Formats: sequence, structure tokens, C-alpha cells
Amino acid sequence: SLILGIETSCDETAAAVVARAPDGTGRIVSDVVLSQIAEHSAYGGVVPEIAARAHVDALDGLVKAALAQAGVTLGDVDAVAATAGPGLIGGLLVGLMTGKAIARAAGKPLYAINHLEGHALTARLTDGLAFPYLMLLVSGGHTQLVLVKGVGDYERWGTTIDDALGEAFDKTAKLLGLPYPGGPAVEAAALTGDADRFAFPRPLVGEARLDFSFSGLKTAVRQAAQAIAPLSDQDVADICASFQKAITRTLKDRIGRGLARYRQLSQGAPALVVAGGVAANKAIRQMLQGLCTEHGVRFVAPPMSLCTDNAAMIAWAGAERLALDLAPDPLSASPRSRWPLDAKAEALIGYGK
Ligand code: ATP
Ligand code: MG
Ligand code: FE
Repeated sequence: SLILGIETSCDETAAAVVARAPDGTGRIVSDVVLSQIAEHSAYGGVVPEIAARAHVDALDGLVKAALAQAGVTLGDVDAVAATAGPGLIGGLLVGLMTGKAIARAAGKPLYAINHLEGHALTARLTDGLAFPYLMLLVSGGHTQLVLVKGVGDYERWGTTIDDALGEAFDKTAKLLGLPYPGGPAVEAAALTGDADRFAFPRPLVGEARLDFSFSGLKTAVRQAAQAIAPLSDQDVADICASFQKAITRTLKDRIGRGLARYRQLSQGAPALVVAGGVAANKAIRQMLQGLCTEHGVRFVAPPMSLCTDNAAMIAWAGAERLALDLAPDPLSASPRSRWPLDAKAEALIGYGK
């Protein structure tokens, strides 16, 4: 089958065409992404209204480009998959409405896809991974450890109780005067810093629950910076290195616990998949690789273009749904700014809140 995917939940406008063979293997036929980083960098973060307008401007052209690069027309496509949440509501409206219009005009089924499901299923497209596996999603908006048991069958083992990990990098960068997005800037500065100069907190380390917390760390960074201001380049590097060390140690504790729990129940070939922009961080990657080796778990890191937001993962989630004959979504489907993957978390917030 051939699926057209659309992604507009945050600050990337994206369209892609993905093919799924009857044996379950996937192939990205075309994949176009327009990042809005330049539009948002002056503000040090994503501005929802600017994002929504940029999606309106870019999406039609990107859909055409994705079809053209794939060498197909809408008539060749078997279904349209568009992100319906979670994310910024303005962007979601643009993408989902566009998906609906295309599906209606071309007479194709529509799948309203959960963005997190896109991240969760990517490793099946890139590596043909079999269920179950563990996924660590670390991006600007999410920090979650999820057991992926099947299409539509997810157990959230841990989530952040305050800031997302990428958000912690971005806020730390902002208060140190580093450019947006903060992750790459903090990582680069940390290379020449002394990671032992500041003893930043390691939130929730040692606790049995698998949640994450990063806002206290950000506050500690602010206090340390204020105490020694004005900051020299070396001070900034030392803060970044110490911050990254605290993050890496915290993650190691949390994910290590998760892997231990996972090893107790897992049959088959255990694997940990990483997703989200923070997966680009080399220190975090190395730590995860080492942890997986220690626990006898395969470490899967899809190419960075598929770790960050993209439409190939959304098309693929649609392909997986279509292959299982899951019902398409009605054209009345609404975008949802909050939409947990996990049925239990979903029950807690209720639909549409
Ligand atoms: P969502 O959370 O909805 O998936 P997003 O756009 O916030 O969307 P991504 O595009 O996946 O998330 O990732 C962007 C985040 O990744 C930013 O917070 C950025 O600072 C962080 N990031 C990127 N590179 C690095 C790096 N090398 N080290 C740490 N963080 C990084
Ligand atoms: Mg992004
Ligand atoms: Fe994402």
C-alpha cells in the first residue's frame, strides 16, 4: 500500500509518501520537511501563532512536492494519514483539515494519527522491529518511556512531571545566552567544559517510579549562573557540561530501572528504541548504548531525520493501521492538543480535554 502522510503538530511542516509491502516491510518513497527554526529562534522557543501561519503557507507546496518526488498522484495513494494530536492546536487544525480535504477530494480513507504513535512505530519502518519493545521519546515536547506492545497498544511507564528534556536544554540555553534550539548549543559548549564544577540535582534518582523531572535542574542552573555572573565563555561551558552530566546520570538511573523491569517480562528479542530531537545528543546516546549492552538489550536509533518530527512516521502509522484493517477516521475527527498514547492515561484526562 501507498500512504500520504502529513505532520504539523509543532514547528516542522512535513509531507511524505511511504510504501508498505505485504510482508510488512516499509519504504520511504518521499519525505519532505520544512523546519521553522528560523521563524522561532528570535523568541527562544516555538510561538504557536507563528507556527500555525507558517504551516498554512507551506503545507500545500510540501504535499505537492512529496507526491512529485515519489512520482505518484493522489489517485495512486491508498490512504491519507494526518497528525491529529497531541501538539499545538493551530498547527494540528491546519494539517488535519488539509488531510481531510485531500482524502475527501480523492475519495481515500483518512487516518487521524497520534503523533506519539508515529514516533513509537518508526523503528518498524526503519528496522522491521517486532513487538514488544521499549521506546524512549525525548523531544522538545515529550519525555516518555513507553512499552510498545502492538499497533494501538501502548503502556506508558514513565513521563515527565514538569518540563520535557528538550525543553530543559532550550531553557538552559536561553538563560545562558546560547542560541535556539538549545540542545545542540549546550552540547557543543559542554565539550570544553568541566562537568564536575557544579553539582546540579539529579531529580527522582533512586525512586522506584519511572517518571522524570527537569524543572528543578533548570532552576539550579539559573541560581548557579546568577551567583557567578557575569559569565565568561568558560563559565558557560562548565555549566553546560555539569548540566549535561546531571541529565545523563538522571536518565541512566531512570532508564536503567526501566530496562530492568522490561527484562523481567520480555519475551523474544528485547530492544530499546530512541526517538525525538534529544536523541541527537552524543553523550546521551553513548550512555543509552552502554546501558543497553549492560542489560542485554538491543539499542535501536533510527536516523536523526526520522527521530525528529517528520511525516514519514505519520504515513507509516497509517500504513500499519490500514494493514490491520483498522477503521479509518470519520471526516468529523477533531484535532486534540492533549492525547496520551496510553489507554490508562487517556482514561484519566478523558476525551477532548
Ligand atoms: P515534539 O515534542 O512534538 O516531538 P519538538 O519539535 O519539540 O516536537 P523535536 O523536533 O523532536 O521536538 O526535537 C527538538 C528538541 O530537541 C529541542 O528541544 C532541541 O533543543 C533538542 N535537541 C536537538 N539536538 C539536541 C542535542 N544535540 N542535545 C540535546 N537536545 C537536542
Ligand atoms: Mg521540532
Ligand atoms: Fe515529535
